[in-house]
Amino acid sequence: MTDIFDQIIDGEIPAYKIYEDDAVLAFLDISQITPGHTLLIPKKHLQDIFEYDEDTAAQVLSKLPVIARAVQNSNPDIIGVNIFSNNGEGAGQVVPHSHFHIVPRYAGDNFSITEFNNAAQYSDEQYQKIANSITSHLQED
Ligand code: 5GP
Repeated sequence: MTDIFDQIIDGEIPAYKIYEDDAVLAFLDISQITPGHTLLIPKKHLQDIFEYDEDTAAQVLSKLPVIARAVQNSNPDIIGVNIFSNNGEGAGQVVPHSHFHIVPRYAGDNFSITEFNNAAQYSDEQYQKIANSITSHLQED
């Protein structure tokens, strides 16, 4: 299935490209949550993080700090960078082609990633049960 990012990779629709090699492409997100908001994607069509093979993971993730540093250094007003990836519609993924958002932060920008602390609701047993459940699924690749 071809999606909008495949069309950007193929040059069928334009994008403000930042970096490209055989395996990855970085380009400005059209929405510009903040100035410099960039997407890093694999050229291989992978819907989400769950479909990654080791080689593609290495190719994409090794470029993440490279692109993040370039974004950070592109403007002296940038005071930090948020990196996130939505995986699955339930997590807010809209474009079904894996991507990492690199969002530079500026003093007074209105962007926020809200983190909740629910630690008070968890006992040692509950933490351990959750950790065990996740660990038991590590070998499924
Ligand atoms: P998601 O919500 O799936 O994590 O993020 C998809 C992102 O793709 C959105 O931030 C959206 O602005 C961006 N996007 C959607 N269509 C286009 C497009 O045609 N060009 C560019 N550059 N970005 C796009």
